[in-house]
Amino acid sequence: MTDSNSDNPLAGAGLDTLAVRAGILRTAEGEHSEPVFLTSSYVFASAEEAAARFSGESAGNVYSRYTNPTVRTFEQRIAALEGAEAAVGTASGMAAILSTAMALLKSGDHVICSRDVFGTTTNLFAKYMAKFGVETTFVALLDTPGWEAALRPNTAMLFLETPSNPLCEVADIGALSKLARASGALLVVDNCFCTPALQLPLAHGADIVIHSATKYLDGQGRCVGGVVVGRQEHMQEVVTFLRTCGPTMSAFNAWVFLKGLETLRLRMDAHSQSALHVAQWLQQQPAVSRVYYAGLEGHPGHALAARQQRAFGGVLSFEVEGGRDEAWRFINGTQVLSLTANLGDAKTTIVHPATTTHGRLTPEQRDAAGITDNLIRIAVGLEDVADIQTDLMRGFAALA
Ligand SMILES: *Cc1c(COP(=O)(O)O)cnc(C)c1O
Repeated sequence: MTDSNSDNPLAGAGLDTLAVRAGILRTAEGEHSEPVFLTSSYVFASAEEAAARFSGESAGNVYSRYTNPTVRTFEQRIAALEGAEAAVGTASGMAAILSTAMALLKSGDHVICSRDVFGTTTNLFAKYMAKFGVETTFVALLDTPGWEAALRPNTAMLFLETPSNPLCEVADIGALSKLARASGALLVVDNCFCTPALQLPLAHGADIVIHSATKYLDGQGRCVGGVVVGRQEHMQEVVTFLRTCGPTMSAFNAWVFLKGLETLRLRMDAHSQSALHVAQWLQQQPAVSRVYYAGLEGHPGHALAARQQRAFGGVLSFEVEGGRDEAWRFINGTQVLSLTANLGDAKTTIVHPATTTHGRLTPEQRDAAGITDNLIRIAVGLEDVADIQTDLMRGFAALA
């Protein structure tokens, strides 16, 4: 963890510049590309220095579970991009959520979590936080009266993802941040789908931002990692948890993510542009009954997303006429798209949410969340749009 430094030459720099240069690390060798520090520990010049480092009297590296220069560079860059005081790298997106919960919640606290979050996040709160006396109420993302009604005197955290997966529902971060503030709770936003290239939750009043770096921050499906972003006081608690409990980011992964960040805005703009094309095109296909993408003017979240986001992102979903069999036939008919639940990759991915990402929900829970059997999710990659369409046509052909 590190401060974003106000007296640096990048103060006031734009997002593209920060994505390439913030937190730059250079050793006496003068290398241009950031070095990767694959070392578990660090040596000291003297016993005196070792003692001072261990006591915290002098700053500096001790052990890579505590600090690592490559990880620190990644943290500084993400903090700069999100407009935050500090950021903390973690071993995965789930480790970021776990670390935030463990660092900032205590037994007896209450959490309100969006029903429409990553499935494993639901489990983390419902199964593991519950074991330690933290109770969670799940509320539909867009049910604002429901969020208000769920508030209790001991509510310590509101947790949500926007836009949601896979229906692209858009929550008003500013409105929920007012609700959180009025009740003394922290608003935590999982910004995985938008990244700081498209959405800055802290600027809309969120207290903490979380990412699975595994997705768009990497951008090429190589490494698993995560990051927590926010105010110094909160990040210090997260750091203490990480040093004690261990789910830290690996230096190699931090280096891969740094390279990913350099192209983040270009990629997010390309993903968004292609996804909009594909969504508009899908709307015209006779076998498609519905398309969910906030970039479409008919989407209920369109106006809010247009205010809150720079663009609409790469994930969309659509319903084909029929049920599960038709959805599976469509997916099996494609030959180029990758059949995988992952997203945020240069390669377009396709998945059947009802039997994969949302397969652990009961049929009633899926109904309530609007995850129908004929729903297909696509995370539009960086291929030529025409070729994505050609492959989707193979899906349509398989329905005939
Ligand atoms: C993938 C994902 C996570 C979990 O991240 P991992 O890196 O897989 O641990 C959390 N939130 C969202 C929105 C995700 O898509």
